[in-house]
Amino acid sequence: MEEILRAGFAALGVPVPPDALEKLRAYYTLLDEKNRVMNLTAITGEEDTARLHFLDCGALLRWLNLEGKTAADIGTGAGFPGLVLKILSPGTDMTLLDSLQKRVGFLQEVCDALSLTGVTCIAGRAEEQTALRETFDVVTSRAVARLSTLCELCLPLVKVGGTFAAMKGPDPKEELLEAKNAVARLGGGEVRVEKYAVPGTDAVHSLVLVKKLRPTPAAYPRRFAVIKKNPL
Ligand code: SAM
Repeated sequence: MEEILRAGFAALGVPVPPDALEKLRAYYTLLDEKNRVMNLTAITGEEDTARLHFLDCGALLRWLNLEGKTAADIGTGAGFPGLVLKILSPGTDMTLLDSLQKRVGFLQEVCDALSLTGVTCIAGRAEEQTALRETFDVVTSRAVARLSTLCELCLPLVKVGGTFAAMKGPDPKEELLEAKNAVARLGGGEVRVEKYAVPGTDAVHSLVLVKKLRPTPAAYPRRFAVIKKNPL
């Protein structure tokens, strides 16, 4: 795993701080152990975890500088991308949020075992986090919802001047078109797409970066049932 990660991060142009590979290894060990008794991830084994979780998530640091910044990962599951970003960028004040308590319990165990400081693990729904409104420099999310819905869950939590970073598949064109209205209504401005190949795989992924220009109107986010029934 260490060799795959060292070569992969070098290929992505993402620096690896001291101790990060050791911490990713320890994270993998805990993930593998817990995944046998709890449904955390369908991606298993050292090589696939290294490539499809750790390299895929760490790739974001090619475009995002999180050091000294506040960040939140929404629908983080077993910690992707948020926990990987925290390990690779230890000076980030990171919030990991997921609606499933048992997943958040696992994340807290990993943070304790790895002695990570500056991480807050929250069990809750993104659309109900009123106390965290317009709090974060960067909000990330992977594999949680289509972009139009995701914008309503995530953009309200981003500070004006901050960035929402959504990890998507090879061709997010259709989702981008569908989310145009949501981005504008929720205070988003310029949208940029960066594509990258996940080293050692055939996967090409996209990072959709949405700049927040104005505060999100108080009417958003709506209740999840309403968002789902009537996406912006
Ligand atoms: N981001 C992780 C990854 O890429 O491996 C997990 C993806 S998993 C498919 C989606 C996660 O989003 C689940 O853990 C689920 O509990 C969480 N989730 C879905 N809707 C949410 C919401 N409204 N607020 C917080 N978490 C949510």
